[in-house]
Parts: sequence; structure tokens; C-alpha cells
Amino acid sequence: YVGLPEQEAFDIEYWLLEEAKLQRMPAPKALAGKIAYVTGGAGGIGRAIAERYLKEGACVALADIDAEALEETVAALKKKFGRDVVHGARCDVTSEESVIASVKSTILAFGGLDLLVSNAGIASSAAIEDTTLALWNRNQSILSTGYFLVGREAFRIMKAQRVGGAMVFIASKNGLVASNQAMAYCAAKATEIHLSRCFALEGAAFGIRSNVVNPDAVIRGSRIWSGDWSKERAQANKIDEENLEEFYRQRSMLKRSVLPEDIAEGAYFFAAEHLSGKSTGNILNVDAGNATAFTR
Ligand code: NAD
Repeated sequence: YVGLPEQEAFDIEYWLLEEAKLQRMPAPKALAGKIAYVTGGAGGIGRAIAERYLKEGACVALADIDAEALEETVAALKKKFGRDVVHGARCDVTSEESVIASVKSTILAFGGLDLLVSNAGIASSAAIEDTTLALWNRNQSILSTGYFLVGREAFRIMKAQRVGGAMVFIASKNGLVASNQAMAYCAAKATEIHLSRCFALEGAAFGIRSNVVNPDAVIRGSRIWSGDWSKERAQANKIDEENLEEFYRQRSMLKRSVLPEDIAEGAYFFAAEHLSGKSTGNILNVDAGNATAFTR
């Protein structure tokens, strides 16, 4: 700093050192201090969302009906992210008492609830005349009622906390468009989307945002695709089961397969205030362009 007075040269040097120090510091995590409750957390998409939130510094409670898978997932995530930031809150989303107890155990573990991901679910396939009342009711109780119960409990807590919150509903492309031989599932998924809009409307005054992420055909990592649904979808589309992923990839406009991590990115977007703080009542289709807006 030849020619500068000594004090000015010192100031510049000091400023440069401070800048270098800031650049070495890790970026602050976007969900630090947030407490998340993720239903279906032991499944493919729920686990990917839990991991995404944990990476961003949130504490995450995983709720699932499958005790064994839940225990295994909680242990794996504790090992990866630390004992104190992961909590297993077993829950059957069709039961009011179970949902209330599970949310309560999350509050006891972490002291609050800022982010909800309602994701626990199933898929089912049947032609209209084969859609039994039992199948219809199963879809209604896990998907429509489950999303209502979990959403209502989270809403109550968020409202009482008076610091807002974010609700993310993992619905489906099939909640927007009809899919062949899946009437009970499509109807229940449509209900989930509309529930989210109701939460958005009543939540706005309290800083509670509610949004939907719609996946389409996330085959790898999803347990839904390891059972009957896979066989039935293959039959409905007249292809072999092992070709399902390629079939959906080819059907998409982008010619890409959708993965659990892609859905997690959408769920992160709607959780992060700096990204979606002004979005509520919205839908994000994560479907490689397979969904709704185009006729081909
Ligand atoms: P998955 O089967 O891997 O995970 C779902 C989880 O929900 C499982 O761990 C299961 O035990 C849990 N669950 C089921 N019933 C429950 C209940 N009564 N109470 C609590 N937990 C329960 O499936 P996934 O692919 O990760 O699906 C997650 C969500 O995404 C579901 O709502 C599904 O409908 C939706 N979805 C998935 C796809 C896809 O292609 N995978 C497409 C569109 C929408």
C-alpha cells in the first residue's frame, strides 16, 4: 500500500484478513434451529427428505408405522448426523391417538415443531368395478384422514408457538390427473392437495405456509414399488415389471428418472424461508415433465 497513510494501510490489511476468515467459515445452514416432523420417515421419499433437512441443520423426528424399518432408519441417521438431532416417533397416521402421541413425543424430544412433512402413504391399483369399499376406505384412511390428522396436530402446535412454520404435503401427480385403474388412490391424493390449500388459507395469518410436492413414479428406493402396485402398474401399462423405470423415464418429457432425492429437494425448497418464504398454497410437480400441463 505504497503511498497510503499508515492507518489506512492497516485498515485495508485488517479488512482483507477478516474477508479471508469469513470465506473459510462454513455457510450457515438454512434449517438450523428448526424442528421437523416427517411421516413415512422410514420409507424411500421420507428418509431422503429427513436426510436433506438434517444436512441443513434441522432436528428431525421420523414417524412411521413400520417399527422395524423405523428403528433401522433412526439408527442409521443418528450415526450419520448425531444422536441428539434424530428422534423416532412411531405412529399410525390413521389413528388420532397415535398421531397425537407421536407429535407429543417430538415436542418432548426437541421442544417444538416448525416443519411438517406429511408423506406416509401407500399406493393401490384396481379397475373401477373392482374397487371394493375396503380398498376405497384404506386409501381414505391412510392418505386423506392421515394427512388431515397429522396436519391438524402440526397446525395446532405451530399456531400456539406464534413463530410460523412450514407444512409440506407429499401428494402425487395422480392428485391432479386421473390415472388408469387407480381411482381410490387418485381421489385420496386429490384430497391431500386440497387439504394443503385449506391449511395455507387458515395458516397465513399466523405465518404458517403450506405447499405440495407431487412426485411421479419414484421407483428406485421406494417400498411402494416392491409390492403389488408394481405388478399392477406393469399390467395396466402392458409391460414387464423390470422395465417400469425405463418406461416412466421414456414417458417423461425430460427423459429422466425421478429419485427420492429429487422429491427431497422440493420439500427442502418449501421448508426454507429464504427460498419459498412468499409461497403458500402452491404445488411443485417433480415429475420430469410427465404431469399435467401438456397434451402430447
Ligand atoms: P414407501 O413405501 O417407501 O414409504 C412410505 C412409508 O409410509 C413407509 O415407510 C410406510 O411404512 C409408511 N406408512 C404407510 N402407512 C402408514 C401409516 N398408516 N402410518 C404411518 N406410516 C405409514 O413409499 P414412498 O415412495 O417413499 O412414498 C411416500 C409418499 O409419496 C406416499 O404418500 C406416496 O403415495 C407418495 N408418492 C410416491 C410415488 C412413487 O412413485 N414412489 C409417486 C407419487 C406419490
